[in-house]
Amino acid sequence: MSDEHFDVVIIGAGVNGAGIARDCALRGLKTLLLEKGDIASATSSASTKLIHGGLRYLEYYDFKLVRESLLERQRLLNIAPHIIWPLEFRLPHAPDIRPFWMIRAGLYLYDLLSFSPRLKNTVGYSCVKKDPHSDLKDTSRKIISYRDCWVDDARLVILNAKDAQRNGAVIMPHCKCVGISHQNDMWHVNVNIRGFQNVFQARTVINAAGPWVYKLLEDQGLVSDKTPRVRLVQGSHIIVPRYLAGEHAWILQQPDKRIVFAIPYERDFTLIGTTERDIQGDPSNASITEEEIDYLINAVNRSFSQQISRSDIRHTYAGVRPLFDDNATESRQVTRDYRLHETHRAKNMMVSVFGGKLTTYRTLAKDVVDRICHHVSLEKPCVTDRIALPGGEIDGGDIESYIHKLQKDFPQVEEKHMRRLWQCYGTAARDILSQPRGRHFGADLYESEVLYLINHEWAQAAEDILYRRTKCGLHMTQSERDQLGVYLAERKNNV
Ligand SMILES: Cc1cc2nc3c(=O)[nH]c(=O)nc-3n(C[C@H](O)[C@H](O)[C@H](O)COP(=O)(O)OP(=O)(O)OC[C@H]3O[C@@H](n4cnc5c(N)ncnc54)[C@H](O)[C@@H]3O)c2cc1C
Repeated sequence: MSDEHFDVVIIGAGVNGAGIARDCALRGLKTLLLEKGDIASATSSASTKLIHGGLRYLEYYDFKLVRESLLERQRLLNIAPHIIWPLEFRLPHAPDIRPFWMIRAGLYLYDLLSFSPRLKNTVGYSCVKKDPHSDLKDTSRKIISYRDCWVDDARLVILNAKDAQRNGAVIMPHCKCVGISHQNDMWHVNVNIRGFQNVFQARTVINAAGPWVYKLLEDQGLVSDKTPRVRLVQGSHIIVPRYLAGEHAWILQQPDKRIVFAIPYERDFTLIGTTERDIQGDPSNASITEEEIDYLINAVNRSFSQQISRSDIRHTYAGVRPLFDDNATESRQVTRDYRLHETHRAKNMMVSVFGGKLTTYRTLAKDVVDRICHHVSLEKPCVTDRIALPGGEIDGGDIESYIHKLQKDFPQVEEKHMRRLWQCYGTAARDILSQPRGRHFGADLYESEVLYLINHEWAQAAEDILYRRTKCGLHMTQSERDQLGVYLAERKNNV
């Protein structure tokens, strides 16, 4: 492939790079997506996993971002109903942190901004109640309830990459871009593929390297005084066995004015996050700190009667937000909106992506690809809001009927297992269920699913399967996880 020419080479397969690849491919552009590690191995698998308007951004008057995110919430729910679903949030009123009228006004505005004549049945609403049976220490507190959406973040990335590939894009995980130069009216992108250097030529390059966006430009001498700065803000989560009642999430206001979520996670767990911690240096080394663990434990213990401690923690993860640096004093105040930066050489353009959110990845991608189309005088409209992501194509959108049908067709599969497969793969669950199950690795992970992930979703290592494409690792013992690693290594040696 070395000398192949592409219309667009994209560096970085996080949610933004994969979303851009999908949009490019759907508009007929010859596209290559490069990723130095596994797909979604950086920030895009380490988020709080919310598709939300961002209630707290209202406090910074970011109405445009909230409105855009709320509209996007409905669009994404339509194109990926298997990996995105509505979730109720309960916010206990904390009079010492924000007055009640402010929260009510914020939620009223939130609902108002989510209104669109084109989009019926938006998921947002608000109400006030007191719940004497809630998990709160102070059950006399007013609770405000509203709805947003939850997403399997890593799978959102994988499905965008899959759809890009289905529409002709070439997807290359474990291929690091190590150099970019401009010669003879083309960008030359140097790529390290298993220790060998290859060069791909492209008319347009997209730098969607997330936390490495600025470093990539700097290393290639492509920084100017107009180049935006990236602010790297680490955020961490802890996962504990489920200890809060109900299917709703909690949004907890903290004395430092931040908020922390406690979200029902993977049926048996509670996900608690997140933190904000400015970091310098290499984002690859992000990992949760002792202070962050204390902060998160205190954040929930302050509100709930049942107390948790370090010994309850089953898993942690940390990610780095590549925020567009708007010179805000505190990291929580930095905008979550994105900026696109263009670099031009002769007739060729490079676009670098600064900032963004999972929620707005599709509009960001549209913005980037509109620019590419304009630059090369291609008149092709964006269709990514109309075409379902792989597995999300359900006639009439009736999910429960579809799951019922699956259960009838595969009666030997337990309901819990069936629902998990549905929430990962949607209609593609059938491809896994119709194969012999094969070896059992632990929890409800079988060889048929592992082979599907290797053959159709670029999985290579145990981690890719256990914590990104599925979350089965949380439900398995260390020895079971190790066994999967041994199986994959043996398989690789035999291939
Ligand atoms: C703690 C936390 C919580 C969050 N919660 C939410 C939330 O609830 N809702 C929401 O909407 N957003 C949330 N976000 C924001 C969202 O996760 C990010 O905006 C988004 O994931 C960034 O995606 P990206 O594609 O820009 O970056 P990344 O996902 O980091 O992708 C960049 C990719 O580029 C690759 N790369 C870098 N250099 C090279 C190279 N030289 N060659 C090849 N590949 C390269 C990297 O390996 C990486 O995979 C959260 C973020 C964090 C950190």
